Amino acid sequence: MPEPTKISSRVDLGNIQFLKSAANLSHCPDDTGLEVAFCGRSNAGKSSAINYLTGQNKLARTSKTPGRTQLINFFTVSDDFRLVDLPGYGYAKVPTAMKRDWHENIDNYLRNRLSLTGLVLLMDIRHPLKAFDHTMINWCAQAQMPLHILLTKCDKLKRGAQQATLLKVKRELADQQATTIQLFSSTHDTGQKLLLNQLSEWVSQGHRADLAARQDTNFSADITSID
Ligand code: GDP
Repeated sequence: MPEPTKISSRVDLGNIQFLKSAANLSHCPDDTGLEVAFCGRSNAGKSSAINYLTGQNKLARTSKTPGRTQLINFFTVSDDFRLVDLPGYGYAKVPTAMKRDWHENIDNYLRNRLSLTGLVLLMDIRHPLKAFDHTMINWCAQAQMPLHILLTKCDKLKRGAQQATLLKVKRELADQQATTIQLFSSTHDTGQKLLLNQLSEWVSQGHRADLAARQDTNFSADITSID
């Protein structure tokens, strides 16, 4: 196993800054320290979550034009910790060629990025566990990648329905190792602390990837099946 990287265990997003956008793996910043990547279907609330967590309204762009943003965006939290905004997925009208590019870039990033230490998957609480979500969840299981799931926009449901969905999703994923799930709302101040605790835990564990588990994974064999 690689040596853990020793970095501060407390995650403070107060000084987060945009670092760069990358169209593919070769344009990503140096693969040092640790990274946590945020992923999800387009419109799941990923940009809103990043902006809310960091207290910066315009750090990540919200409500993008469907299918236009295919870049991987990197944000520096500290010298040795970054947040990564992976391009969203799920617009039915996106041309197949663009889906293929997206697939190739994400597959490359997920399989080869040594600093990637955990994935945060965002799902709209009203539409959880779509095909894309299962693809990511299955990939995490195969690759032994720690996964933290946010059921976003939970303010859209009443408290009882929120808890019922949380329980249902937890039950469906009961067999998944290293997977945690929580409620989240960027607009109603729900779940920030839990998420920060999870990021801190990953950072304090400090594991850079042992890529062996990932090499044979392919996170989606059939892109046309992803809605
Ligand atoms: P992205 O495509 O995943 O980056 O999604 P965005 O962050 O752009 O959000 C998509 C839409 O959902 C926007 O209209 C947001 O205002 C809305 N939204 C995001 N988070 C929340 C939330 O916590 N509660 C509610 N009610 N709406 C949200």
